[in-house]
This record gives sequence, structure tokens and C-alpha cells, in this order.
Amino acid sequence: MSDCLFCRIAAGSIPSQKVYEDDEMLAFRDINPARPVHVLLIPKKHISSLMSATAEDAPVLGRMLARANEIAVAEGSPDGFRVIINNGRVGQQEVPHLHLHIVGGPDPVGPMLKRI
Ligand code: AMP
Ligand code: ZN
Repeated sequence: MSDCLFCRIAAGSIPSQKVYEDDEMLAFRDINPARPVHVLLIPKKHISSLMSATAEDAPVLGRMLARANEIAVAEGSPDGFRVIINNGRVGQQEVPHLHLHIVGGPDPVGPMLKRI
């Protein structure tokens, strides 16, 4: 059993509010949403962050970006959204499994978020 929180969510051993899933990625609602729409989109494969991503990971990362709008629209952010990826110590990443924050809502999200 992996001790990575998001690997365990991907495996279904920790519950989450899933909003999209296919064979290589999973999207679920952030437990502490910063905006009305706040979804985390993860690769099912464990990649710690963009600091350790390789060219081999580029296709799935591209497909995740290409999926983001569909998820945002379905969650209630039809007129745009913001994607944030925190990486490592300087990026203040808390969960060391690469994830896209998809943040939005009916209203603009405001200036660059201080912390997400
Ligand atoms: P980061 O600081 O970029 O690593 O973001 C980690 C995010 O994971 C935070 O926004 C947390 O609210 C969120 N989070 C932590 N645990 C869970 C969980 N069990 N389910 C959903 N979101 C979580
Ligand atoms: Zn993981």
C-alpha cells in the first residue's frame, strides 16, 4: 500500500468526491476549496511534481491540460478558470503527488491567489 495520499485516493482506498476519471487521470474536489469551483486533477501514475516529470510524462500531462475545461464547465465554471501547479518547497507544494488545481466559479477568481 502506497503511503502517498493521492495514490491512495487514485486507488480508491481513501474516499474522494470524484468528478472525472479515465484510465490515466482522476479529478476530485479539493477538501478545502479556495473558490466555489476547486478540483484537483492528478495522473494515476505517481509523479511527485514537475521537478521529477520527464518527457515520458508529457503525453498524460498534455491530456490533463486538454481535459481541464470540460471539468471546469461541468463543475460550474463555464466562462474560464485558472490552473495552478505548486512544485516543491519554493512552490509550497503540500501533497507530493503532481496535481493541477482547477479553480473557478461563476465569478472571476481575483488576482493571483496568495495560497492555494
Ligand atoms: P498543494 O499545496 O498544491 O500540494 O495542494 C494540496 C491540496 O490538496 C490542498 O488544496 C488541500 O486542500 C488538498 N487536499 C488535501 N487532502 C485532500 C483530500 N483528502 N481530498 C481532497 N483534497 C485534499
Ligand atoms: Zn502518489
